[in-house]
Amino acid sequence: MKKILQDLSFGELLALVESGGEKPFRAKQIFEGLMQGKRISSLPVPAPMRERLLSEYEDEPVAIREVFTSKDGTKKFLFALADGNLVEGVLMKYQYGNTQCVSTQVGCRMGCKFCASTLGGRVRDLSAGEILGQILAVNRSEGGTLKDRAVTNVVLMGSGEPFDNYDSVVRFLRNLTAEGGIRISARNVSLSTCGLVPQMKQFALEGIPLTLTVSLHAVTDGERRRTMPIANRYSIAEILAACDEYFEKTGRRYIFEYSLIEGENADMGHAESLARLLRGKPCHVNLIRLNEVKERNLKGTSEETAQKFLETLQQMGISATLRRSMGSDIGGACGQLRARYIEGGQR
Ligand code: SAH
Repeated sequence: MKKILQDLSFGELLALVESGGEKPFRAKQIFEGLMQGKRISSLPVPAPMRERLLSEYEDEPVAIREVFTSKDGTKKFLFALADGNLVEGVLMKYQYGNTQCVSTQVGCRMGCKFCASTLGGRVRDLSAGEILGQILAVNRSEGGTLKDRAVTNVVLMGSGEPFDNYDSVVRFLRNLTAEGGIRISARNVSLSTCGLVPQMKQFALEGIPLTLTVSLHAVTDGERRRTMPIANRYSIAEILAACDEYFEKTGRRYIFEYSLIEGENADMGHAESLARLLRGKPCHVNLIRLNEVKERNLKGTSEETAQKFLETLQQMGISATLRRSMGSDIGGACGQLRARYIEGGQR
């Protein structure tokens, strides 16, 4: 595979252009063109310069392979990377804007028992430009521009553990928010982690005030270990302390994801323990009914149980919402589409 031009910051691109003896304004042309989702081969620069770039860099590092549209308007995208690997993403349409969910790795090695992304382990990390490329491709195909964006919010909740690919994710976030690019503000970005405590602490020092989201899914370490192997490394207490550190450094409230699994974490006793655990913290709880993955024998709760769980949290003073499951008719749960696609031999 060649290198990926979309990995570079504007400053790095400028240095590249100048080292090739070209005028600095070319860097701006290239950066802008790439951020508009253009391929190198259609950049408005002199042909010899395009040829030089093409000899070293991938023309189209992230290509939309297929689009599935749900009845509720949610779109699921299957992206092909330059080496033939596939990743998926979703675009959800809300009143306040369009949120794109992006992948940070091909597969995942965290091994959570309820998640389809981790079934085949981790294949490889995505580079910063491959993460950004998913957004640039969707913004373009949905008719967005750099001024009038079709993608206004981003969540790092596709396949992969963002903090297991730390450097590329931070680089991606800097380019996502950079002047002259697509400029999605960190405030409109959520990063979801299964709770890699050292990276959470490191990230608090990066000066990127996004919404930190932690997949909790249990109220005790013992129960958490049953579904999330990472709980053998870090305790809930350590995670909560890292969240508080993030709040102190950034002033941003954090969010806990809690997927309701029948017979596992969804009793009213769990709701009460969760409320006690989080009482007084600057946080919000996002409940979601488990999206059943056919390779796993875990069951989601009924809508009624989910509602009762929500009310219990709220009555105990916890800010919480029950997330609507969007796009379930097109394989909404993590990694489901890619898994089905590979399984079907459609590659
Ligand atoms: N690796 C990151 C991002 C993963 S996906 C993390 O662990 O946070 C985003 C969220 O979806 C996580 O909270 C994850 O635990 C949850 N999730 C994964 N599979 C799910 C399923 N089948 N049903 C409901 N939620 C699921």
